Amino acid sequence: MVRDMDKCIACERCIRMCQDVQGIGVYELVEDEKGRYSNTKGRVPQDRSTCVFCGQCAKVCPVGAITERDQVHDLIQVLMGSDKHVVVQMAPAVHHLIAEEFGLPPGTDVTGKLNAALRRLGVQKVFSTDFAADLTIVEEAWEFLHRLQHGGTLPMFTSCCPAWVRFVEMRYPQFIPNLSSCKAP
Ligand code: SF4
Ligand code: SF4
Repeated sequence: MVRDMDKCIACERCIRMCQDVQGIGVYELVEDEKGRYSNTKGRVPQDRSTCVFCGQCAKVCPVGAITERDQVHDLIQVLMGSDKHVVVQMAPAVHHLIAEEFGLPPGTDVTGKLNAALRRLGVQKVFSTDFAADLTIVEEAWEFLHRLQHGGTLPMFTSCCPAWVRFVEMRYPQFIPNLSSCKAP
């Protein structure tokens, strides 16, 4: 994430989103010679705060003071100006999200179109994470059965979202034994 507080208009949306919706509370409004703006509590670097990097604050900031880091230009440079062998791996959700972005009905699968488009851009290999996602579910099922049959910690929690796992680890460490050992594919 990138934070450019010169753009901040102190609307507090990021503060409310993080505190009231996500229940985390990373930011507060501060005031100094630069004016009023949102900052991490205690002004600690974001990666040393309680932030789980869910990205919701960036989603609600109306002026682009908090944004996700855009790596499109890095990709274009690699595709245009190097002899690197470029490989793309896509999560299953991407196939559907890109379709919606282009106005297609929700649920439309554009895997083939994406593959063709990426290859025309110069990508040599395109992989889908679908198969690995299926394997993860199979492994999780085995782990659950093992816990059930051998008195393991229950309930078992699982999520492919690193922010969710980080949230449990930081805020509810007592539930770490309940987390599945299978990680996101
Ligand atoms: S990324 Fe999520 S946890 Fe981090 S400051 Fe933004 S809303 Fe809060
Ligand atoms: S949402 Fe954006 S503009 Fe509003 S307080 Fe947060 S950083 Fe500033």
